[in-house]
Amino acid sequence: MDFDLPEDIAQHREKVREFALKEFTPELARKHDIEEKFPDSLRKAAFDNGIVDFSSPWKSLVAIEELCRVDPGLGISVTVPYFGAETIMLFGSDLLKEKYLARVNAGKAIMGLAVTEPGGGSDVAGLKTEAKKVDDRYILNGSKMFITNGSIADFFVMLVRTSKPDDKRHHGLSVMVVESRSKGFTANKLKGKLGVRATDTAELVLNNVEVPAENLVGEEGKGFYYIMTFFNISRIFVAAQGLGVAQGCLDRTLEILRNRKDEYRGMEEVNFAIAEMATRIEASRLLTYKAASYLFQFKPKPEITSMAKAYASETAVFCAEKALELTGLEGITGDLERYFRDAKILEIWEGTSEVEKLVISRFLTKEEKA
Ligand SMILES: Cc1cc2nc3c(=O)[nH]c(=O)nc-3n(C[C@H](O)[C@H](O)[C@H](O)COP(=O)(O)OP(=O)(O)OC[C@H]3O[C@@H](n4cnc5c(N)ncnc54)[C@H](O)[C@@H]3O)c2cc1C
Repeated sequence: MDFDLPEDIAQHREKVREFALKEFTPELARKHDIEEKFPDSLRKAAFDNGIVDFSSPWKSLVAIEELCRVDPGLGISVTVPYFGAETIMLFGSDLLKEKYLARVNAGKAIMGLAVTEPGGGSDVAGLKTEAKKVDDRYILNGSKMFITNGSIADFFVMLVRTSKPDDKRHHGLSVMVVESRSKGFTANKLKGKLGVRATDTAELVLNNVEVPAENLVGEEGKGFYYIMTFFNISRIFVAAQGLGVAQGCLDRTLEILRNRKDEYRGMEEVNFAIAEMATRIEASRLLTYKAASYLFQFKPKPEITSMAKAYASETAVFCAEKALELTGLEGITGDLERYFRDAKILEIWEGTSEVEKLVISRFLTKEEKA
């Protein structure tokens, strides 16, 4: 068993780190956080520099980790324009890949994934947005909530109800690609969210929006399975976000402590807290890389993925909290307060920690029964 990354992945990590340290200045990070403005020129720069390389999942993973380590808000903003792409990649027709994915892969379009509704995000099967088939098109009515890239994306991969459920609530759901320029489509940007304020978040309202039948992803009625497959991929990348945030908190804490001239630095409580942060980060990294290793070899283990997502995001929150405690006023008035707010979001999106624990326990009890 070799715990070192292969040379080309390790080199990519270094390249991404150099890019982030040069481009993500504290001033820029603060500006986009305060103004809640998506950094589009930074997205283009990251694309032009080959920072986000989706031809290699390992490169994507270490890139997300390093970018979030330097700044979570900016780091997530430059990697999230592709959010939902795997759904089309795995289940979409050649036409959809050519019509939509090609533009995203060329850095010419931004996409999003719309599942959550105002009534709640965890109960995916309970969603209410309706798509009625009329001739060669679907007519959509309903709304989506907290959608990343909501007011800037060109199109969304959207989960909608195409027929009433039978005995199973998650039946009758379908995925389709919905263009934001469609008649009857409105995006209302949400402001004032706790963290990752450089990312764009919006409510989407669909009022008789017409979607061509060819925009259906895969088969009608199988949408729930497609989205759960997607979450089993994306949760590994959220774990990488958590890992980056946690590592960034430790980096900044050590830097602040190094500059202190008093005895505080040598105190046992301070050293123990640092050791605890570093240990949890290392445990998160092992779990995340293990989940990724299974997935990238096409042998996904959803329970390990959920462990990685829950543990790494909780580690980010733990490290952000410890960092503030250890650095006092300097942390609270500096960049660490932003990490603290950003970290909490990771425990919520793409499955709250409670939902991840439900997935883990379901797998364990299923195995026990078997
Ligand atoms: C910044 C941001 C960006 C987002 N981007 C997107 C996006 O791009 N696309 C998208 O579709 N969604 C997005 N979301 C939505 C996100 O996925 C949901 O917030 C999340 O799934 C939780 O849903 P909810 O907030 O409606 O909480 P709810 O589902 O209402 O849950 C409320 C609380 O109850 C708990 N809970 C719920 N069900 C159970 C249960 N069965 N057992 C135990 N506890 C339970 C939850 O853990 C949570 O603590 C985003 C959210 C945020 C904050």
